[in-house]
Amino acid sequence: MTAEFDAVLIGAGHNTLAAALHLSAKGWKVGVFEQAGVAGGAVKTGEYTLPGFRHDWGAMNLSLFAGSAFFKAYGPELVQHGLEFVPVAKPFASAFPDGTWLGVSTDAAATRAGIAAISQSDADTWARMTAGFGTQAPAIFGLLGSPMKFRALAYFMFKTLRAKGIKDSLTFARFLTLSPRQFLTENFTSNHVRAMLGAWGMHLDFAPDIAGGAVFPYLEGMAGQAFGMVLGRGGADTIIRAMVRAIKARGGVVETGVSVARILHEGGKATGIALKDGRVIRAKRAVIAGVAPRALTNLTGGMTPEFDNALARFSHAPGTMMIHLALDALPDWAAGEALKSYAYVHLAPSLDQMARTYQQAQAGLLPDEPVIVAGQPTAVDPSRAPHGKHVLWLQVRMVPGTILGDAKGEISATSWSDAAEPFANRALDILERYAPGTRAKILGQRIVSPADLEADNPNLVGGDQLCGSHHLHQHFLFRPVLGHADGSTPIKHLHLTGAAVWPGAGTGAGPGFLLAQRLSK
Ligand SMILES: Cc1cc2nc3c(=O)[nH]c(=O)nc-3n(C[C@H](O)[C@H](O)[C@H](O)COP(=O)(O)OP(=O)(O)OC[C@H]3O[C@@H](n4cnc5c(N)ncnc54)[C@H](O)[C@@H]3O)c2cc1C
Repeated sequence: MTAEFDAVLIGAGHNTLAAALHLSAKGWKVGVFEQAGVAGGAVKTGEYTLPGFRHDWGAMNLSLFAGSAFFKAYGPELVQHGLEFVPVAKPFASAFPDGTWLGVSTDAAATRAGIAAISQSDADTWARMTAGFGTQAPAIFGLLGSPMKFRALAYFMFKTLRAKGIKDSLTFARFLTLSPRQFLTENFTSNHVRAMLGAWGMHLDFAPDIAGGAVFPYLEGMAGQAFGMVLGRGGADTIIRAMVRAIKARGGVVETGVSVARILHEGGKATGIALKDGRVIRAKRAVIAGVAPRALTNLTGGMTPEFDNALARFSHAPGTMMIHLALDALPDWAAGEALKSYAYVHLAPSLDQMARTYQQAQAGLLPDEPVIVAGQPTAVDPSRAPHGKHVLWLQVRMVPGTILGDAKGEISATSWSDAAEPFANRALDILERYAPGTRAKILGQRIVSPADLEADNPNLVGGDQLCGSHHLHQHFLFRPVLGHADGSTPIKHLHLTGAAVWPGAGTGAGPGFLLAQRLSK
């Protein structure tokens, strides 16, 4: 059987869905084909432990989606199709081994007071920095939202120069090159303040000493202070369910449980896809592949030697382990009851510990003290668990995709099927140190190793939640490959999208929306 669409999209991650919705709105007939049983890729919600406990499989924080150009354009339509956000006033905090904690909330005076209790000069710096955010934001968001073509970049540089002048523009350029450690030590004296902000680099692969990483601790700190955080009511999949409904309402097709086996092309032009079930789907105007770079080479059978080689060099970041817990009650944080109301509690006590963890994961070692992001969605959205109960979203950062050893010398297993449980126990031991008694509150648990993440979604190579390192060699004009940061490929009508393409990972829908805007111009 052969079906025909204007655009055929491979994978139902939020980027391809965003592209599909925009193209549908422009009158294109779209078909999205997803190998997993449900749409969403890294943004899915399910009862992974016990009935009634809804866990976010991957992404939990939807701030990037809520602040995106895509949401600006399609927010009202998505809300009509059921999208519901939950605003969070207390986005993140860090707990420290000395029994103290520090957090950022939209209550600026409270944030400042918390920092001032440690260091008055850091509190003053924080106040200056947050006051200046409005001036810095247009340049940063302008850059992160800009198409990565020479012309667009030149226009951006021209606009920045005109708005800021030469000296401030160069200062901004220097800031873009800084590592988190350099930025944080230049600005703050307290190790706790540095660690609280530096933890955000670990959400990407910007460990403290990686050049170009300063922007993330800065942005998350400033945006957390100004806007808080955004979660999805009932689960992060609220955005996926709404996008799928909106696409279908506009006449598009979203099929799940159908793996794409090949991308069809003739005479240098993509013509459609072949599904593993034998069906052929024709594409009149575009094939859009929301896959990892090397998978594109496999699906096409190769494009040009230069492009194939460049994709073969594409580097992935270390992996992630997720631990989903159904809890009788929220953790009793030793550092203070107040931590119960923060969406994220980072257990990342110092820049040195984060740097060590990253280095160990890069070297193939199970870190001796991994960074843990403890997400407490039910603190703000009780609808995700039965009355009075809770879910805990534990993100264990960073871990090796392929295990060569254990930095602590305790775990001998080198396959994730054997190492997942003892390593998860290491993470739970750390949690127990910061929140004694949490183990006794566990009603159900699901450990998701990097290998499990990849088995569910082949884009997460080695459990790399970013679908590719964001280090400078692979960012901006170089994501995924120089000359193709707009998703173009050497095959006409074939486009790559998703987190591997500029502007990269996260729920901001940038790669998908920028591509769909370009195609429908
Ligand atoms: C554990 C985890 C936690 C995260 N936390 C956050 C967070 O809190 N906030 C945030 O902003 N970001 C977070 N991220 C990152 C963010 O979720 C991802 O960058 C983003 O969702 C990627 O979207 P995407 O559209 O590129 O594709 P993906 O979500 O990766 O989806 C790709 C889809 O394509 C499908 N596919 C691949 N190959 C084929 C094929 N051959 N045939 C058919 N289908 C195919 C896959 O099955 C998958 O469904 C997290 C990611 C992970 C994994």
